[in-house]
Amino acid sequence: MSNTPEKISEHVEICPYCDTVIHVPEVVEGRRFTCDVCGSTITGLCRQPLLLPFVYSLVSMFLFLCVEIMPFMKITMGGITVEMNIRETVTAIVDEDFRLLGVFIYCCMQLFPFICLLMVAVIYGCFLSGRNPRWLRLLARLFFRLKEWSMIEVFMVATLVSMVKLISMVDMSLEGGFYCFCIFIFFYVKVVSSVDQGFVWGKLVHRDNFLWLSRLAGRRANECGYVRCEICEAMNSSQSTVCCSCGGRVEARKKNSQQRCIAFLVAAMIMYVPANTMPIMITEYMGSATESTIFDGVIYMWETGSYPVAIVIFVASIAVPIVKIAILLSLCYCIYFHRFKSNKYKTRLYHLTEFIGKWSMVDVFVVAILTAMIKMGSLMSIYPGAAALSFCAVVVLTMLSANSFDSRYLWENPKGETAAAGQKESE
Ligand SMILES: [Zn+2]
Ligand SMILES: [Zn+2]
Repeated sequence: MSNTPEKISEHVEICPYCDTVIHVPEVVEGRRFTCDVCGSTITGLCRQPLLLPFVYSLVSMFLFLCVEIMPFMKITMGGITVEMNIRETVTAIVDEDFRLLGVFIYCCMQLFPFICLLMVAVIYGCFLSGRNPRWLRLLARLFFRLKEWSMIEVFMVATLVSMVKLISMVDMSLEGGFYCFCIFIFFYVKVVSSVDQGFVWGKLVHRDNFLWLSRLAGRRANECGYVRCEICEAMNSSQSTVCCSCGGRVEARKKNSQQRCIAFLVAAMIMYVPANTMPIMITEYMGSATESTIFDGVIYMWETGSYPVAIVIFVASIAVPIVKIAILLSLCYCIYFHRFKSNKYKTRLYHLTEFIGKWSMVDVFVVAILTAMIKMGSLMSIYPGAAALSFCAVVVLTMLSANSFDSRYLWENPKGETAAAGQKESE
């Protein structure tokens, strides 16, 4: 390992959000660079950008295994003590015949986070030992795809919400697994936030810095005849279909972006109705069963004085999906009817939808935890309701819709486009 500090050298690239050609100066450790036009973060480097992600990923994987084997919580009720392990949140859901939901929770709560950590450890391990086998590129592509589907931080919030719910019902104590889990989340977030796509791909492929194109800085890439490779961030001529650096497929824009976005939104809106009207949780107490919807849960928490939890559930489960659907619909409307004002603000709204998407899963995770914890037969048991699956579908559909949206269309002045196209034809 060399002792020279790591850096991202001066280069020219295209902003993935507003399609402006930008001249990025040298970025040193602990610095980041944002696009002047739309305000999105383009690239950033943490301190010790090679060593820290590697060490943190190893520590996280170790803690993850500790969480897996240690008991998470213990509850006592009517003389019966039940110990819960984090894996049981999945098995309890599967046992209740919600297999699809169980598989989904397993993937985004355990499988994906672990695979992400493993991939970071392998990629950075190879960087540190100076190796660069071809299959590393495949791993890097997979990592940047998978990391947004890993929802372990959401599970942390769900754990806290379930604790508040449980305290009023039973005697509860936190076990070693829970404390390991808290430390694990800290390291996991550190790992994911310290991996920069541009930095990783700069190490993986020989990528030009395109400095001879710096004269185009500030202009729209589409008008200049250049497109960005979504994988390695290299600049490519708009005629090319294969990236000059990484060999991946190059597309000027996400295909049928608005159509796909709206299709997913409509499906999400349809699923939102059963998600809120059907019961999400069934509580059986002394032989009688009570069904409760998400809104019932909010009212119950409010009436029992747990105001913060009531607010968290209301915001995450009821407000966030509506806000997200409304933002994406209004952005599609702006593109369709050529409303190109305050684009910087609209791009920020789009970033917001990307960020808040997975937080709606909180209530589904809470139901999974409660199902795993409260299973004392007819004395007291909690089962997931039909709404849990529809709610999960709402989250997935809104995430897919935000993924299919291409914010670059917001910055596309149709008059400018026709002029550029006309120019090309006359050439
Ligand atoms: Zn930008
Ligand atoms: Zn590429």
